[in-house]
This record gives sequence, structure tokens and C-alpha cells, in this order.
Amino acid sequence: MVVNVASEPPAPRAAATHRVSAEIDLDALRGNVRALRERANGAELMAVVKSDAYGHGAVPCARAARRAGATWLGTATPEEALALRAAGDRGRLMCWLWTPGGPWREVIEADVDVSASALWALEEITAAARACDRTARVHLKIDTGLGRNGCQPADWPDLVAAARAAEKEGTVRVVGVWSHLACADEPGHPSNAAQLAVFEEALAVVARAGLDPEVRHIANSPATLTLPEAHYDLVRTGISVYGLSPSPEVGLPQDFGLRPVMTLRAALASVKRVPAGHGVSYGHHYTTAGETTLALVPAGYADGIPRHASGVGPVLVAGKWRTVAGRVAMDQFVVDLGGDTAEAGDEAILFGPGDRGEPTAEDWARAVGTISYEIVTRIGARVPRVHLNADT
Ligand SMILES: *Cc1c(COP(=O)(O)O)cnc(C)c1O
Repeated sequence: MVVNVASEPPAPRAAATHRVSAEIDLDALRGNVRALRERANGAELMAVVKSDAYGHGAVPCARAARRAGATWLGTATPEEALALRAAGDRGRLMCWLWTPGGPWREVIEADVDVSASALWALEEITAAARACDRTARVHLKIDTGLGRNGCQPADWPDLVAAARAAEKEGTVRVVGVWSHLACADEPGHPSNAAQLAVFEEALAVVARAGLDPEVRHIANSPATLTLPEAHYDLVRTGISVYGLSPSPEVGLPQDFGLRPVMTLRAALASVKRVPAGHGVSYGHHYTTAGETTLALVPAGYADGIPRHASGVGPVLVAGKWRTVAGRVAMDQFVVDLGGDTAEAGDEAILFGPGDRGEPTAEDWARAVGTISYEIVTRIGARVPRVHLNADT
């Protein structure tokens, strides 16, 4: 569910209107894109909006990113790219995660750039381009060391030669050569320089074959922030567009002028006094130490709150950080307010930018042993995204 709100001042009192909602500050997103463009120092910027813009809502985030100067958008799947076209996006757009028999023709006809890591993909692309009498825009992907998708260097000359032949035939235009880094979130890791060296060799093969791509690209967010020699013509930024740092090693968002875009809040569904020795939630893994106040936060693992947050997840309620008491259930969890009071309907902030004293997505990631990427991306479909500041 996507809720669009043009502009709304912050609520004076902490009373939430939704059971749970993810507020998406598009003004912060635009500021992040501008900060990243400055960092990219002349390279173009692709805002990566895969997986519903890392849980932030693909269409409004894509629009805001374009407005702030993202000349490219990127998605993983062709379906994600087609959804952006259906929503009216018309700029440069690339998708890269393909399987045999994918919707090549629809994507080519929608003017979306595609990626090829292997001959089978190039063959399906040329067949689709012939069928619709178009020239497909292709980015050839080299595996410079990540070991995921991408053409192995040993097979690269064959892929490049086949692409060159298809270009002569008019079915494709090789507009990009690209790769992806394995350890950019660990600045100084030796594999970063090693991958760039392999990339240079792959580019030399491309030049010798007579191809002249518009854009060479290998940098994700961490490389955009910390590895200028990886910027080339285009940087592909995902997590940093949403104001989160790729890793604590890279730094804090504010070190780079980034501001977290998502605030996850809930309205307390119950507040009540209970006696000492009261068990809390499934399995009774928490028992009240004395007479106390329990508050019920109506968000659970179906909303993307990790069950691993049981007993460890942080949440701001009644002005203080609390910890999830007992297990996270499908729809709800409990916090122990101790001697403090609150009322049903009062706001609980699970995470946000952090400047109102609330935890951040990074705090949640640390608490549950994951990365902030997973915290925001897993927020469930039943949590409404409330987009603020869409048009300022
Ligand atoms: C997700 C993704 C990115 C963006 O990575 P971030 O670390 O979020 O900036 C860039 N390139 C590719 C190929 C990706 O899959």
C-alpha cells in the first residue's frame, strides 16, 4: 500500500494515526542524491530502486531521485523496470537480473537497458530485438572477482566478439561495460584494487574489439563514498540513496551528508499495569521483575520485524529506548516501560534518522546480527508507506 502525502508538518504530539507505518521523507532522499552526485564528482548517478526501492516505495522514490539529478535508475528484475515504465518513468533505466526466457522483448520495446553476462543472454537479446525490429541497448557484465553473475575473464573475448557482431548487424548497441564489487564496504580490502585491475583489462578487450560503450560502471554505494578510482562514468547507488551507510567501516550517514529516509513508527495498541512475575509473549522468555507497565507494539515479523529481535530489538517509547520483551510474534511485540507511563495510541518509533533520540536501522541491524539493508528491505507489504515532501 502506498500513501502519498504532499507535505505534512511533523505531528506536535506523538500520537500515531496508523497501526504501523513507514514514513518516507522524500526531501531527505533528494538531499542524499545531491550529496552522492557531488561525491561522484562528475560521474552520472544511477539510483538503484530494486526491491521496491529497498522497501521505501519504488515509484515515488524513483521520481524523487530523478528530480534530484539521478540520470539513471537501476533495478534487479525486468518486472521491476517494466513497473517503473508503467508508472510513467521515461529516463535511462537498466535491469540486470535475467533468466533464460525472460521478457526481453517487452523490456527492449519499453526502452529499458539490459545486461548480458553470457552468450545465451546475448542470443536471446538479439532474437528479441530482431522480432520487434529494435536495437537493444546492452551492458556487458564482466565478473571481476565477485563470483556471482558476470562473464569470466576467460570467456570475455568471445562474449565481446559476439556483441560486436550483433552491433554490426544492428540488433544491439553495447552502451555499457560493467561489474560489481565484493568488498567495497571494507575500505582498503585488497580485492577492491584487484577487481579494478581486472575491469581495466576487460575494458581494453572491449576497445580492441572496436566497441565504444557510453558508460563504464562498477561502483556501488560504498565505492561511491570511499573509492573514487572506481567511479568511472556512472555510479550505482542503492543504500546510500536511502540515507544509510553501507557498513560501520565505511562510516556514519552524517559523515557523508546523508540522512535516513525511512522512519518506522507504530501506535501502542495496549498499555497496562501487570504484577511481578508476569510472563510476556510466547514461551514466556521474559517475566516481569516487579509490578510494571507493559506496552504492546502492534508490529511483528509479518511486518518485517525480525523474530531474532526477541529480547534485543530497540524501540523508543515514552521518551526512552526500550528493548523488545520476550518474543516478537507475527503481528506484535511487548516492551516493559518499568515505572514509566504511556497511553494506548502513543507513538513507538522503531527506527528513524536518530535525531529525535530514536534507534536507527543500523541499531536494529547490530541488535539482530544483520545489515541495515535487510532491516529496511524486509518491511512488509501490509505496512503503509507514507511519502512526505513529494514535491518541494
Ligand atoms: C543492489 C546493487 C547495487 C547497489 O548497491 P548498494 O550497496 O546498495 O549501493 C549496485 N549494483 C548492483 C549490481 C546491485 O545489485
